[in-house]
Amino acid sequence: MKPLGIYLHIPFCRRKCAYCDFLSEASVSPKVIETLNIRDGSASPRAGETLNIRDGSASPRAGETLNIRDGSASPRAGETSGDLQSRYVEALGEEIFARAGGSASPRAGETGADLRSRYIEALCEEVDVRSGGEQADTVFFGGGTPSMLSPREISRIIAAIRGAFKLSSGAEITMEANPDTVTPESLSGYREAGVNRISFGVQSLQDHLLAELGRIHSADRARLAVRQARDAGFDNIGVDLMFGLPGQTVADWRGDVREALSLGISHLSAYELTLEKGTPMGDNPPPLPDEDEVVAMWEAVAVETARAGFARYEVSNYARPGRECRHNLKYWRDEDFFGFGAGAWSSLGGIRTGNARTIAGYLAEDGFRPAETDQPDARKKMAETLMLNLRTTEGCLESGFLARYGEHALEGFSGAVAPHLAEGRLERVAGSLRLTSKGFMLANEIWADILAI
Ligand code: SF4
Repeated sequence: MKPLGIYLHIPFCRRKCAYCDFLSEASVSPKVIETLNIRDGSASPRAGETLNIRDGSASPRAGETLNIRDGSASPRAGETSGDLQSRYVEALGEEIFARAGGSASPRAGETGADLRSRYIEALCEEVDVRSGGEQADTVFFGGGTPSMLSPREISRIIAAIRGAFKLSSGAEITMEANPDTVTPESLSGYREAGVNRISFGVQSLQDHLLAELGRIHSADRARLAVRQARDAGFDNIGVDLMFGLPGQTVADWRGDVREALSLGISHLSAYELTLEKGTPMGDNPPPLPDEDEVVAMWEAVAVETARAGFARYEVSNYARPGRECRHNLKYWRDEDFFGFGAGAWSSLGGIRTGNARTIAGYLAEDGFRPAETDQPDARKKMAETLMLNLRTTEGCLESGFLARYGEHALEGFSGAVAPHLAEGRLERVAGSLRLTSKGFMLANEIWADILAI
């Protein structure tokens, strides 16, 4: 049996981004941020200045002001006003949890740190209870913002995994990180804990676009975080960028990609913004670049990454040779993985199971037992395998598909596949069915046709 992958969902963020519908609990409401007017820097505190944090959701007492230059909150040596703001917002988040109970329904008086540690214990217990001592060769901390956990907390979870699974030597251990939540010390700590791949959610290197997206970090903070990760000994660093953003030009995007590639990274993910209902951006859609501009952005990232020696290996992912994300490849190859934590899905032997979709539900007694099961019929399973495989440049290996299902992918799905082969969107190369570069642009259409068969 092939070694499997382990995914751990860390559903905490310091603040919810304007476009995000992932399962994550923000410790600070957008309203608090508004009060602090943190986006444009104009509210950076001046000596002796007080900020009113009583906005209905955040402040301790009506009309109360908090002197953030009261000695304990004064900036540390070398700290910028942005750093101070971040530190303040984090402290405020803890305050909100302690006084208001937080929206994740922690126990009365529980702080954000208490909730996180209760969550970590539940996560470790789930790892222990559900594992059967399987061999695993990838671990992925995703979120949310895993870098909101301390190195000690990450180390505790890795120890639980090592205790429950046979973790291969040389296993890939990835952690997603928000640039604003790391320090040289925490990065060294994660490295010591065994994390050997770090993936930064940078999204843009333009401050006005970061503000539009509601990100907590600046472009400079992102540049610094990548440098600090290198200094901490990470030699496998990924950056996520987004395109198709409000007001973003093709030149902006090309500049971001070029600069990100020059930061000494080995992996780049480039995602087109999608507006999701129920998010601030999805509910009040801003004007976005038109279709031609978006196509030009797709092309720009392909050209710039190739020029920098990166190869595309999945629709949205580019890497230096050998630096592809081994964990994510398991999803696209439709291999087995365990998912632990709130809202996490597992796929084992063709059966998918999902955990409770809220933190409170997950923490409830037995909440982490898979709450949902999905066992697709053979036909649907084949369609899903084909669709997932087609996300990658290696495509669907026809012999592998035949060995797995006893059926040729091309025969079973000829109604969906043949027209795209004829149109040059799909091709058969070296026993593999795969998307052409034209096909990558129209991938959604092709997958929809396959799933509809
Ligand atoms: S940091 Fe990531 S998971 Fe958290 S709110 Fe922003 S996009 Fe969502």
